[in-house]
Amino acid sequence: MGGRVSGERFGRDMRRVVKAHEQLERLYADRRFAGQRRGSDLRSLLAHLIWAITVEQLSGDNLTDRLLHLMPGTPSRPWGTIDDAIREDCPRYEPPADRGHGYYGLCSGTMVRRSGPCGQQTASMHQRRTDPVTGQWETVVFCRRHEAEGREAWAIERQLQESGTLPEPLPNTGGLAPSHSRANWANLYARVSRNWKAPAVGIIAADWPTMAKVHAARPSFVMLDGDGQETGTDGPATERPRFEVVR
Ligand SMILES: [Zn+2]
Repeated sequence: MGGRVSGERFGRDMRRVVKAHEQLERLYADRRFAGQRRGSDLRSLLAHLIWAITVEQLSGDNLTDRLLHLMPGTPSRPWGTIDDAIREDCPRYEPPADRGHGYYGLCSGTMVRRSGPCGQQTASMHQRRTDPVTGQWETVVFCRRHEAEGREAWAIERQLQESGTLPEPLPNTGGLAPSHSRANWANLYARVSRNWKAPAVGIIAADWPTMAKVHAARPSFVMLDGDGQETGTDGPATERPRFEVVR
């Protein structure tokens, strides 16, 4: 009789291992991690999470303890490795990288005698320029010669900002973790990044193109409630992370 019971258990365990194996295969085949600076840390975290949840069936404090044990930080930041990996994966819009070098940018001023922007390398007048249709923004700079144009652009930008009509830009980075494991990601993101809010199109990167179409079909851009909780704190998170399994 004991043999029959352990046989059932063996079958159940094997099914879990097979399921975890499939999840891990999908995780390692996902090339998007390569685009993140801490992508390999995030991938390790997710692999540990998949194994701990699916095979070992850990939850609550046991689950969090296991992850902290496998991915230790430093004495001053015991969960720093995990926090940094999660912070980089916060679903959000990122503007295109600044043209130019570091603090210097290339002037966006209009040229009268030729087409294309001025292109002068300059450190004066950095400002945001937002596309009123998509809400996407970038940083632009203007050189001394194009100061007047810069001031005009800034006046328009401020009007846009104050109008309250700018749509939320679609996220274009992060959101890999929830594609691979069902944990309480919205809370985990909110814990490490102050002022982070769940995007209206959700936190799963793979869903964004479809959700964007759904939102575009609506008369107005409605914010969905995320279950992300604002931590309201500055600087690094002081509470240890809590990983929970979400069904
Ligand atoms: Zn210029």
